[in-house]
Amino acid sequence: MGRYIGPNCRLCRRAGEKLFLKGERCLSPKCAVERRPTAPGEHTRRRRRLSERGVQLREKQKARQTYGMLERQFKGYYDEALRQKGMTGQNLMQLLERRLDNVVFRLGFADSRNQARQLVNHGHLKLNEKRMDIPSHLVKPGDVVTWSHSGASSEYFKALKENIKGKNPPGWLSLDQENMQGKVTALPQPTDIETRIQDRLIIEYYSR
Ligand code: SF4
Repeated sequence: MGRYIGPNCRLCRRAGEKLFLKGERCLSPKCAVERRPTAPGEHTRRRRRLSERGVQLREKQKARQTYGMLERQFKGYYDEALRQKGMTGQNLMQLLERRLDNVVFRLGFADSRNQARQLVNHGHLKLNEKRMDIPSHLVKPGDVVTWSHSGASSEYFKALKENIKGKNPPGWLSLDQENMQGKVTALPQPTDIETRIQDRLIIEYYSR
């Protein structure tokens, strides 16, 4: 599945806010939104007033870019959320959170979803004791994420084992820091999902 390969910081500047796509750098003064809060190509600090449709589009783009996917794949998640019972917005956010790359990020095994996707793509992680290299795989309660031999023998893993101490994943995941093992204990609920995304606007965007 294709993905955006341009500069990540440009996406944040376009969105007008931090999307936290680059891990530690996003929290530092080097962050491009901190240094240049204007949209790419704009030379003034004034932002155009967006129409209602523009606000909805921006929110959809923000969600799509936060989870790192192209339009067709993102629309696929929306269609699936619409098919499911319950509130479409909550279903959508739950589906996005259940992606394996997001889970690896939320467990603290990676600094960003991009990095988590790379770890999965390179076969450094296992799901339920089997190698799993599909970042979009949807996890379910009871699933266990561990490191493969290649992952656990890397320098990255050794440094991470030190750095992860004291970090806590969201309530629907548990982390065994000693064994570097994560478990999905429940489906993510709206209160577990700390993103700045307003799912209502995304649903309104696609409902037109
Ligand atoms: Fe966005 Fe992070 Fe780049 Fe800042 S450093 S602009 S938050 S990707």
